[in-house]
Amino acid sequence: NVSASTSKIQELSELDKKYFLHPTTVPKAFIEEGPKIIFSEGNGIRVKDIKGDSYIDGVSMLWNVNLGYGQKELADAAHQQLSKLPYSSSFYGYSNEPAIRLAEKIVSLAPGKSSAVFYTSGGSESNETAFKLARYYWSLKGKSEKKIIISIKRSYHGATIATGSATGIEGFHNFSGSSGNDMIHAKGHLTNCELGDKTDPEYEGCIRDVIEKEGAHRIAAVILEPIQGAGGVHVSPDGYLQAVKKLCEENEVLFIADEVISGFGRTGKMFGVNHWEVEPDIICVAKGITSGYSQLGAVILSEELRETLVQTEQILGHGFTYSGHPTACAVGLKTIEIIERDNLVENAANMEKILKEGFVYLQDKHPHVAKTRAVGLLAGFDLQADRDNDVPFEQSIRAAKTVVEECFKRKLILRAADFEVGKNIVAVAPPLVINKQELEE
Ligand code: PLP
Repeated sequence: NVSASTSKIQELSELDKKYFLHPTTVPKAFIEEGPKIIFSEGNGIRVKDIKGDSYIDGVSMLWNVNLGYGQKELADAAHQQLSKLPYSSSFYGYSNEPAIRLAEKIVSLAPGKSSAVFYTSGGSESNETAFKLARYYWSLKGKSEKKIIISIKRSYHGATIATGSATGIEGFHNFSGSSGNDMIHAKGHLTNCELGDKTDPEYEGCIRDVIEKEGAHRIAAVILEPIQGAGGVHVSPDGYLQAVKKLCEENEVLFIADEVISGFGRTGKMFGVNHWEVEPDIICVAKGITSGYSQLGAVILSEELRETLVQTEQILGHGFTYSGHPTACAVGLKTIEIIERDNLVENAANMEKILKEGFVYLQDKHPHVAKTRAVGLLAGFDLQADRDNDVPFEQSIRAAKTVVEECFKRKLILRAADFEVGKNIVAVAPPLVINKQELEE
């Protein structure tokens, strides 16, 4: 019996309001209303709160609990490593076995000529590291002017000053300002423009246009999510990533794939870029690498980057206390073992079909459901006032928020991707362990 007494719930709620400042939450409203839910345990695709109510987790919490809850093998892997060697540094030439073995494993899975990993504690640190390594790489090549990072509108790359600035959702800049002129947001997903069609009315502001305006000699890298998550589950159109990659090659610009959500099977392939057979210079991962059971991220480097970095006498002046954390890496190794053993990448691909059938049903029943999309188990749909004529709701109508709240009342957790005013998108991304029956439910 997990349910807590009313007095305990009240006590926790008061303490929460008083002492715990929550991310991406309006503090004033939080202090008035208190926590929406206090989670206590989970099993499979379901989580329970301290009252004992059970919810289906339709977004794998923050797109990360890909193996679902109650995976005892992951708990055992963490327990064993914590008992043996909970932590060791990877500075000063120190190392540990889980970090070494996981690095080999990640490289073996990663696309193309990937050759080495740098560990972090999460997605923001991975992208931040990628930006620094990209600039460092160019300075080693004698091109230290190459500093600008280009990202695209509606992207989400993290919450540090640099990654928050690279993020193409304005709400994330208002908090503390951006890191200046070295981050430029280009328009997104404009294939014709990226292919070089200057007559494309969207040409101005596309990645190609930004490179031309700023000068390739000043651009270090382009960063893209193969499928945008937080910005509203926007799938790259066919040809887009290839076009951007080609553009990068022509201009000596590194191509960074932010696979923090799409990595490790979420999209029905091991990495998102596998759908388009593009080989990035740098791939950033986190979330699914441990299914959220421990804090870990990694930056995967191409052979060319690794070869350049290992040839200099200079110190690699970057790293975190928890880079190569043995317990996190042990959990990562076990996570990948389970993904492979239980064919979860394949399951995500198979469940995509069921999810799409469900979306057809939903569209039949509900005239406001529009633009349904799913790549593996990374999915979403828009809510529109008039879908036949592509007319959005008025800005005052928070349709996605309302739908997500109503689902929550009915014990289904989904997510409104409505950072952009007037956009009403509902994200769906259940754990990769989900089966047909659960998905239909
Ligand atoms: N990149 C992407 C695509 C993300 O979705 C996120 C988090 O949602 C991040 C980076 C940042 O990761 P973290 O919150 O682990 O720092």
